[in-house]
Amino acid sequence: MPQILDGKIVREEIFANLKPRLAAVQAKLGRPPGLAVVLVGEDPASKQYVQNKIKGCADLGICSRKVAPAATISTEQLLKELDKLNHDPAIDAILVQMPLPKQVDSRKVLEAVAPGKDADGFHPLNVGHLVAGRPAPRACTPAGIMEMLKYYRIAVDGRKAAVVGRSDIIGKPMALLLLQANATVTVCHSRTPNLAEECHRADIIVAAIGKPALITADFIRRGATVIDVGTSRITDRAEAERLGRANEFAQKGAAWVGDVNPVDVEKVAGAYSPVPGGVGPLTIAMLMSNTVQLAEQHG
Ligand code: NAP
Repeated sequence: MPQILDGKIVREEIFANLKPRLAAVQAKLGRPPGLAVVLVGEDPASKQYVQNKIKGCADLGICSRKVAPAATISTEQLLKELDKLNHDPAIDAILVQMPLPKQVDSRKVLEAVAPGKDADGFHPLNVGHLVAGRPAPRACTPAGIMEMLKYYRIAVDGRKAAVVGRSDIIGKPMALLLLQANATVTVCHSRTPNLAEECHRADIIVAAIGKPALITADFIRRGATVIDVGTSRITDRAEAERLGRANEFAQKGAAWVGDVNPVDVEKVAGAYSPVPGGVGPLTIAMLMSNTVQLAEQHG
């Protein structure tokens, strides 16, 4: 059986380390750090994500402010909202929940967040800092994965890593963080021939694809560490049963799985972050961490 990499335990450790920093920055600023969360429209999944982020703030003692314009907002109107937040002295960090409605230019919006208040590390200036290895807010999910590897003392330096997925929010920043930690990194994507072979060479596989159970036993070198970032909801009973999720399906009529086949990974991996309960809890923890870090810079 592989070692299970439990994101909830790592989250508690991140929160415990943040608490004294939060108290210190609060004393210095005379107010708690402030995170503004911009939620455009009524998308149920986005609303749930935002709710979870606001709860994370409340649990830790960060002041959150939800800005929730209607789904019909124009790019220009949204840029004005961001300008207000950029100039608001009680706001240290700003997060714009993606995706935005079609009529809004997402790139313009992300570029309009002040780099010094960029809670997600998505501003091009902060992406540049990441590429150059300079301090700046990092994309939350990849940064959380690095914390997980550190917590469980999984060596990265000198190891081979395969990152499957090259999105701006997960795959690319993940590859850069692993590279900075001295891994030899292969980035795979939908046009990669022989994906299984590429993955099989790796000591560490990070799967950020969004395709349920695509990574099967033949992708995984015996003893490798497998980090599963994907989250997919499956509604087919036979598939749920095949992936060992019969009970969850029977109770809820659907089951959540990652990009890694959960039955296979148990047979070959040395360590494995499951879905749910692996990477998921770390994303919000790192959002809190980025918010405290930005507040420290404003103090
Ligand atoms: P995305 O933007 O859709 O990117 C998916 C990546 O996977 C793309 O680079 C794509 O390649 C690649 N890909 C697709 N099919 C492939 C295949 N058959 N073989 C190899 N590569 C393939 O997704 P994302 O935003 O990075 O998210 C990835 C997953 O992580 C999703 O399931 C998402 O829900 C989950 N997620 C989890 C968290 C968390 O906190 N746990 C946070 C964010 C996202 P191309 O570039 O060639 O198209």
